[in-house]
Amino acid sequence: MDAEHLASDLDRVLVSEEQIHRRLAELARTIEADYEGKDLLLVGVLRGAVMMMADLARSLDRDVEMDWMAVSSYGSGTTSSGVVRILKDLDSDITDRHVVVVEDIIDTGLTLSWLVSNLTSRRPASVEICTLLRKPDAQQMAVEVRYVGFDIPDEFVVGYGLDYAERYRNLRSIATLAAHVYS
Ligand code: 5GP
Repeated sequence: MDAEHLASDLDRVLVSEEQIHRRLAELARTIEADYEGKDLLLVGVLRGAVMMMADLARSLDRDVEMDWMAVSSYGSGTTSSGVVRILKDLDSDITDRHVVVVEDIIDTGLTLSWLVSNLTSRRPASVEICTLLRKPDAQQMAVEVRYVGFDIPDEFVVGYGLDYAERYRNLRSIATLAAHVYS
């Protein structure tokens, strides 16, 4: 879905479809170089990272495996609960494997710090993070993010997998919502 179909619900488009695809191609070239000669497992964080995973995986000119985890996040509100719970665990054993966690967005970093320490305890060969979007607060977090698509301002965004109360995930760009949507 294009932003024009949602015009009255959106405030403005922050990252266009073209910008997303151009940046994903750049990230794919970097990942290919970094993991040359190594096997690679992409772990997508459901549900927001579905679009990012699909496009990043197809941009990679090499073989990768994909697995998924679901953890609790914002629910239908717009502020972080800080509570992380595994709703769906990996199907694969990641012992001695190179893992890249594919995320849609990092805000406080609470979810990812927890996820990375959980995955690290399973003794993988390595764990890195690839996120499409990063908000300012995330830059203070202890966990290192190897691959970042875009640094964005501290605003609630939807689109390209990101929802507000399960809506707007199929928007092709990343946008902020108009105030009337929240009220
Ligand atoms: P964190 O633990 O880093 O604060 O939050 C991570 C999760 O919160 C993300 O995976 C995402 O589900 C949700 N989230 C954080 N910021 C936003 C936002 O601007 N829009 C949407 N739709 N979800 C967000």
